[in-house]
Order: sequence, then structure tokens, then C-alpha cells
Amino acid sequence: MAQQEIKLPPSPLVQADVKARVGTPDLLTSSAERELQMIPGDNRPGAMLGPIKVVHAFWLAGMSCDGCSVAVTGATAPSVEDLLIGRLPGVPRLVLHHPVVSVEAGDAFTRNFRLAAEGKLNAPYVVIYEGSIADERLAAATGGYWSGMGFDENDQPIPTSKWLQDLSAGAAAVIAIGTCATWGGIPAAYGNPTGSMSVMDFLGADYRSALGLPVVNIPGCSPVGDNFSETVAAVLLFLNGLGPLPEFDELGRPAWLFNETVHQRCVRAGYYEEGIFADEYGEKECLVEIGCWGPVVQCNITSRGAINHLGGCMNTGGICIGCTMPGFPDRFAPFYKRPPGTIISSSGARMIGSFVRPLRRITMQFQNRETRWDKDEHVPSGWGHVAAPSKVEKAIHYFYEKWQYLNAARPGRTEKEEMYPGGYEVPGVRSGESVPADQERELRRKG
Ligand code: SF4
Ligand code: SF4
Repeated sequence: MAQQEIKLPPSPLVQADVKARVGTPDLLTSSAERELQMIPGDNRPGAMLGPIKVVHAFWLAGMSCDGCSVAVTGATAPSVEDLLIGRLPGVPRLVLHHPVVSVEAGDAFTRNFRLAAEGKLNAPYVVIYEGSIADERLAAATGGYWSGMGFDENDQPIPTSKWLQDLSAGAAAVIAIGTCATWGGIPAAYGNPTGSMSVMDFLGADYRSALGLPVVNIPGCSPVGDNFSETVAAVLLFLNGLGPLPEFDELGRPAWLFNETVHQRCVRAGYYEEGIFADEYGEKECLVEIGCWGPVVQCNITSRGAINHLGGCMNTGGICIGCTMPGFPDRFAPFYKRPPGTIISSSGARMIGSFVRPLRRITMQFQNRETRWDKDEHVPSGWGHVAAPSKVEKAIHYFYEKWQYLNAARPGRTEKEEMYPGGYEVPGVRSGESVPADQERELRRKG
């Protein structure tokens, strides 16, 4: 294939460029129909590389609080804007049909979904489901419904679960976003009067998308926006034949985002390791004894941050309540009690920490000194008195250094043949003098 020259849109975005790529929205018509009118045409704005220029994204909301939508609008790497204007080379431009943020409304909006369900889009699409899926049979028994979008030919609300059923077979991928959609979440918690369930439970183990993928799960309550946008970009690259199939774990989570625990990347993990624990909220130490489940929870918020690599639970003083896990919320309740497992692990850390901490302080004290200060037996600090190491501490450090340099090269000129003749010392300036001693002698000799 001949190499294409790629012209990247400017950053930050300018209005004229966005307009050139996505057109001026006409609130009265369906955006999917507008896209259809652009076919065929090499000039159709879309991916800057690869055969697929445009992919539609149908966002459905079931038993949801819209928190996932809010989280995704905060994504930065890549941002939703990057995806919507096709700014990433090789990633097809995303045409988003979202019940809250789309500009069309009413029939013009649901027309997009109908075109997809009838196979008339003439472009691939993905389905994104936010919120859990309630058992509509329970509501129908009393003539109601739990969550719907649009009306059928009998003027009855169409449940979002029906849309999911109709769209899932032809979708390149079905992506469940947030813990309600991935594992049932709060609506499916103990009691569960609506019979709520996850997308995976609703579509079943045999479900495969048009690309052959089971449901992709991006959990979190709310999820990290970047986890979603990065996964979508990776799936779209694959769809365009320009990237490998992203790695998912046995529960359909993007493996590279969810294979570590909160604890492994926590900013407070050093306190845990030294056995220092917070007794109250607001303290800076490890929060495990006031209810943090981080050591057993798969979530990357401690390294990725909540928005733009900033924030995140422990970074801002919160405990981990396991919101990304299939057992959330019941298996992590009550949130104000410490997890039973900490009786063993934090007691062990406390015991080991009580030995390790004082030893580390001694080493720290030695490493806090310049070599020169030891020679002069004086620290020329104007800030305060710095105590010299005691004889016991010196003896400990003597053996510590022996061990440190065992079978290794010790820095500095230690061998006789490496020494300067005449005992020249490096550096040659003595404390309180500005000219090296030998130079001073030479100057004096010259008169
Ligand atoms: S606050 Fe939680 S995640 Fe962080 S070190 Fe303590 S137990 Fe681990
Ligand atoms: S650290 Fe815990 S509570 Fe916070 S987002 Fe991750 S799983 Fe949820």
C-alpha cells in the first residue's frame, strides 16, 4: 500500500477544523442519515488511515445514574473530542448517538438506532450500555416499564433492553460501561426489586458480537473515563485492521487496565509496608484499618487518576470500597468496617514494620550526610545543629558498608596505584578555603 501523508488536526482544536470534519449539525435530521448521504466518497471525513472511515456508537442507558456518561466526558487520553473528530491516526471517526449529549431529539434520534437494527447503516457500529438491565417482565405485569427509549407502533415505550437485544447481533462490539452494566451494581444489590442484572447476564455466555467478541466490560462506579476511551480506541484500531485485538481477561475486562490491585499502585502503600495506619479519615497513612479494600481490588485509579491523571480515591483521602468488582456493593459492606483479612496482613506489617523502621532511620541518617562532612566531623548547616553519628551507629554502618560493597567496586580512588602522587586529594579545597591547597602552595612559591 502506498504511504499516505497524514495531516493531523491542530491542537488545541479550532472551531473551523471541527466543522470541516463533522459538519454543521442539523437538529431536525438523523445524524446516521446524514452520514449515509456522504457515501460513497473519498472525501468523507474520517480515519486518517485504514479502510474504515466511520464507526457509529449507540449509547443506551438502563438503570443508571448517568455517572458513566459524566466520567467519559472527562476522559483526556484520548478524549471524546479526539474520537468524535477522528483525530487519532487509524482510529475511525466515531459518530455518537447518546440520549443526553446528542443534538437530535425524538424520532430523528431514534431513527439512528432503527437504521442500525435494520442493517441499513452502511457502516460498522458498537453498542455501549450504561446502567443495569431491569427485568421488564416485572414492570409489564403492572402495565409499566423500568427504562425505555422511544415508542413503538402502538405508542408504547421501547425498553432499552429491547434495543440492546435488537442491536447486539450486528454490533462490532458490545461494551458495558460502569459497574451496573458490567456486574449489576447497585440496582442489583441485595433485595433487587427490579430484577436487575448485568449486560453479560442478560445476553448470556453464548453471545458473540459480529467481530466474535463476548461483552467487553469496563467496570467502575463511576469508571475512569480514560479506561473507556482508551479501550474504544484500541477496539476501533483493531476493527480498522491497524492494531492487534486488545487483551481481555476472563471477565472481559481490558487486561492491561485491570490486572493490578489498587494497593499495588497506591500512594499510601509505603505506609502499609512499614506498618503505619490511619485511625481516622483525613490522615495521610494507609487507610486499611478504617475500611480500605485496596489490597484485593482490581482497579487502576491509583495510577491513572480520576480525570487527566489527577485525583482518585486514596490520592484524595478515600478508602477503596471495591466499586470495580463483581461483588460490589454487598460483598464490600459495611463500608465503615475494616476488611476481616487485615487482622492478619496489617498485624504482620505492623510487627515487621516495628523492626524495619528504626533500621531504616539509621541508614537514612547516614545517607543524609556528604562524605566531606564525615571527614571534617562537622556539618556546616546554618539551619540547625546536625548530630554526629554515635559510636554504635558508626559501627553498624561500618558493617553495613562492608556488606554493601561486598563483591562490588567501591566508588572513588581506593587502590594505591590510582592515588595522585604527593597525596593530592580530590577535591583539594579544604573546608573554609577557596583555593585548593596545592595551588595555594604553587602561588606562594611564584611569589
Ligand atoms: S490505603 Fe488501601 S490501597 Fe492504599 S496502601 Fe492502604 S490498603 Fe493499600
Ligand atoms: S479505588 Fe476502589 S472505590 Fe476507588 S474507583 Fe477503584 S475500585 Fe472503586
